[in-house]
Amino acid sequence: MKLPFFLARKFVAAETLEETLPVAEALHAKGLGTTLDKLGEYISDRKLVEKAKLDYIQLIRSIDAASGNIDNNISIKLSMLGQKIDESLCLDNLHELLAVAKTTGTFVRLDMEGTDVTESTISIFEKVFPDYRDNVGIVLQAYLKRTREDVERMCELQARVRLCKGAYKEPAHLAWQDMPTIRERYLEYMEMLISKGRYPGIATHDDSLIAATKAYVSDNNIPHDRFEFQMLFGIRQDTQEAIAAEGYGMRVYVPFGDMWFPYYSRRLRERKENVWFILRNMFKS
Ligand SMILES: Cc1cc2nc3c(=O)[nH]c(=O)nc-3n(C[C@H](O)[C@H](O)[C@H](O)COP(=O)(O)OP(=O)(O)OC[C@H]3O[C@@H](n4cnc5c(N)ncnc54)[C@H](O)[C@@H]3O)c2cc1C
Repeated sequence: MKLPFFLARKFVAAETLEETLPVAEALHAKGLGTTLDKLGEYISDRKLVEKAKLDYIQLIRSIDAASGNIDNNISIKLSMLGQKIDESLCLDNLHELLAVAKTTGTFVRLDMEGTDVTESTISIFEKVFPDYRDNVGIVLQAYLKRTREDVERMCELQARVRLCKGAYKEPAHLAWQDMPTIRERYLEYMEMLISKGRYPGIATHDDSLIAATKAYVSDNNIPHDRFEFQMLFGIRQDTQEAIAAEGYGMRVYVPFGDMWFPYYSRRLRERKENVWFILRNMFKS
C-alpha cells in the first residue's frame, strides 16, 4: 500500500524533480545553500540500481542546467548504487557518477546509513577520494563508538565531512544510546573537524550544539567560511534563515522522490510531536 504524499509534505519537497527545482531555487533566493537528495535506499535489484545511477546523473545535469539558481550539490546513498549486491558494482557506479560530477563541478555527499554498511561506505569513499577530492565528501555519525578514529582519518585525508548525530537504530555495543554522551561526542568531533579538517558541515537542529559551534569559532577567531551549518528541509526554517542572516553558511538538505517512506519514518521517530502533526492533518483532510 502506498501512503498519500501529503503526509510527507512537511519533510519531503516533492515527488518529482521538476517540482523540486523551484523549491530549491526559493531556498537559494533566501540565501540558503541546498543539497538535493533523490530518496531511496537499500536496492537489491540490479536493474533498479542501474536506474538509480542514471537518475542521480540526471539530477546532476538538471541542477547544472538550472544555471546558477541552485548549488551544484547532491547527497546520495551507496545502498542505491548496488552496495548491498556487490561492492565492486557500487564502486564502478560511483566512479561513473563522480566523473560526471567533476565535469559539472558538482559536490556529491555520500550519506551514511546503518552500521551494516559503515565500513563499506568509508572504504568505497577512500577508494574514490584521491581522484575526486573536490567532488566527494562523506558523513560521520557522532553516536557511533568508532567515530573518533574516522574523524581523525578524514582530517588526515583532508576530506570533507558532514557531522550528524546519527538517525538509525543501532545496538548498544556499536552506538551510544544516551543523548548527553552523543552531544558530548558531537562537540568533540565538531572541534576536531573545524580546527583540523576541511570545510565540515555541522548538521544539526540542536540549539545547544549550534550555540557551542558558534562559541568555538568565535573564541578561536576561526572565520565563518571554514565550515557550514546544515539542516533538513521542513525543520526549523526560521532558524535556518536566521543563522544565514548572521553570516554563517547554511545548507538545507532537500529530499524528494516517491520512495520517501523510510526517510519520513526516521523523521517521525525523532520527535513525537511530528506524529501528532501528521495525525492532526490526516483528520483535517
Ligand atoms: C543536513 C543533515 C543531513 C543528515 N544526514 C544524515 C546521514 O547521512 N546519516 C544519518 O544517520 N543521519 C543524518 N542526519 C540526521 C541526524 O543524524 C539526526 O538524526 C537528526 O538531525 C536529528 O538530530 P539533531 O542533531 O538535529 O537534534 P535533535 O536533538 O533530534 O533535535 C533538536 C531540535 O531540533 C528540532 N528537530 C529535530 N528533529 C526534528 C524533526 N524530525 N522534526 C521537527 N523538529 C525537529 C526540534 O526542535 C528538536 O528539539 C542528517 C541531518 C541533517 C541536519
